Formats: sequence, C-alpha cells, structure tokens
Amino acid sequence: QETIDKIAAGEVIERPSSVVKELVENAIDAGSSAVTVEIKEGGVSFIRISDNGCGIEREQIPLAFLRHSTSKIKSVEDLFTVTSLGFRGEALSSIAAVSQVELITKTNGDFTGSRYLIEGSKEVSLEEIGAPDGTTFIIRNLFYNTPARKKFLKSAQTEGTYIHELMQRMILSHPDVAFKFIMNNQVKLQSSGNGNIKDIIYHLYGRDITKALLPIAHESELFKVSGFIGKPMISRGNRGYELYFVNGRFIRSQILSKAIEDAFKPFLMQHQYPFTVLYFEIDSSLLDVNVHPTKMELRFSNQQELYREVQSILSAALVH
Ligand code: ADP
Ligand code: MG
Repeated sequence: QETIDKIAAGEVIERPSSVVKELVENAIDAGSSAVTVEIKEGGVSFIRISDNGCGIEREQIPLAFLRHSTSKIKSVEDLFTVTSLGFRGEALSSIAAVSQVELITKTNGDFTGSRYLIEGSKEVSLEEIGAPDGTTFIIRNLFYNTPARKKFLKSAQTEGTYIHELMQRMILSHPDVAFKFIMNNQVKLQSSGNGNIKDIIYHLYGRDITKALLPIAHESELFKVSGFIGKPMISRGNRGYELYFVNGRFIRSQILSKAIEDAFKPFLMQHQYPFTVLYFEIDSSLLDVNVHPTKMELRFSNQQELYREVQSILSAALVH
C-alpha cells in the first residue's frame, strides 16, 4: 500500500506548488473566507496553509488520508457535474505518502480540536488539542523519502516563484476569499476578499495595466463571460498574462486560448500576447474536467461555437 501510495503521489504531487494547489483548493471547498499560505525554501522544507473553513471531525481525519476517500462525490453521476474543486480524494493520501504532515483542525460544532501527525503514509498520532475553527496543514520535508523525485526539483527560488504565480491565480480565481501569501517570512501577496477584480489586478499587476483595461460582460445560450482584457498597448512578451478561469478553475484550453489570441491578432505584433483576466461560466454538462489527474485541461462539447462566440465578443470589445 505504501509503495502504491508513493507511485500514485507522483501523479498528483509533482512539486511544492502541487501541494499548495491541492491544499488551497481543499480550503476553498471547505467554505473558507480567509486562507493563509506560508512557505519556506520554495516550499520544500515547509508549507503551512491555514483556513477558517468547516474543519474535519476527529473520526473523519484518518479516513480523509485514505486513497480515493473524498467527502465530495456521492455517486458516479456526480463525477460529471463536479462543482467542487477537488473530487478524486487523492490529494491528502498523496501528500502524506511523500512528506511529514501535521494537521490541526476543529469544526464549529466541536469544543476541542484535533492534531494529527502522519509521515510517509504512517500515522504517528491523533490527539485532542485546543484550536480555532478551521484547518491548518503543515507539510514538512517534501519528498524526504523519495530522493529520486526530490532531485527533479528546481532551485528553492524557482519553486517559490511557481508558488507565487499559483497564488496570484488563486487570488484571481477566488476574489471573495481573503488570501495572504508569505514567503521566507515576507508577506508577498494579500487580498481583501471583497470580490473586486480591479482591486486585485491593481494589487498584482500595478497601475499601468489597471488603467488600460476593457471590461467584458456577456451572456449567451452557451456560456457567460465577465472580467477584463488589456488594451493591445499593454500586451506582453509571453502567455503568462493570458489568464482565464472556467467555473472558478484556472485551466488551459487550446480552444479558448486560440479564440482569445485570434481576437487580439489584428492588434498585436508577432510574439506578443494579450493581458486577460476572464471568467467563464459554462454549464458543467458541456465540460469534461476529468481528463487528467491535475484537472488542468478541459474539453468542451461545443468547441466551434465556443470559439466563434468568444472570438467575436473580444474582437467587438477591442474595436470600441
Ligand atoms: P478531495 O478534495 O478530492 O475530496 P482530498 O484528498 O483533497 O480529496 O481531501 C480528502 C477529504 O479531506 C476532503 O474530501 C475533505 O472532506 C477533507 N478535507 C481536506 N482538506 C480540508 C480542509 N481544509 N477543510 C475541511 N475538510 C478538508
Ligand atoms: Mg482535494
């Protein structure tokens, strides 16, 4: 079982940023309005994620660390209409297989909290302690027991940058959640959770970009889209600023990227890419999110129509 867990862990947990992604998604799924992420040494030696969500009941804790245990899918049909971010029940077991995990959690209905330690899939202890409502995960020494995997990591600085970028996307994809990101004892990012996208763009990208935004708001039979695109004058040299979210998830989609880039094409030089922060809402019956364990790539059942509509909405905004 331990070996299977270690192998399975590789699919979900590739690097420190994968741990942060899974745990932040869990915090959001738990209904948190505030999430704090702290890392040291690029997340390799230390990751702490605290939330004020629903917490985990003591009896449920060991179960949550079993593979394929999730509180989020009740039936097979649910797999096709997932609205919560995580749904495979693989994250906690995968993380615990390759690190030293400390969990402190308390539900609103309980008087005391719990502290649980698990290392390399082996339970160390479960005890009762005082704790505030919500959940804190501390992940120490990622890949301490899989040196081959540890070797594949980049420098602490690069791993830290991946997490920093991930946190920017998390803040953008959940404007109603107050995030704080601390790296090596310095507060790097902080959002208010007031839901204002422009405030967030200002905080993350500064004044010049914020001044050059065009608002997008459109609703059709197929989907809804809102957010902002940058005027062509603030185009960038890489795709790092071409951000879009589908049903609250940051995902990559060839068809959406192409629609966005084709709309900008008449206005941009070669090797220039747009700045976008777009929020799509697409009926989940038209989506297939289950194509990869990390859930990054989406497939749509109505590709052509989606392409045409997105392209024309953005083109219209750019010429006005
Ligand atoms: P999944 O998110 O796919 O259900 P995970 O392995 O990520 O699977 O988490 C397992 C379970 O642990 C979740 O279904 C949830 O019940 C519980 N859980 C994990 N993190 C939290 C959290 N921050 N707050 C409350 N419950 C959590
Ligand atoms: Mg999860």
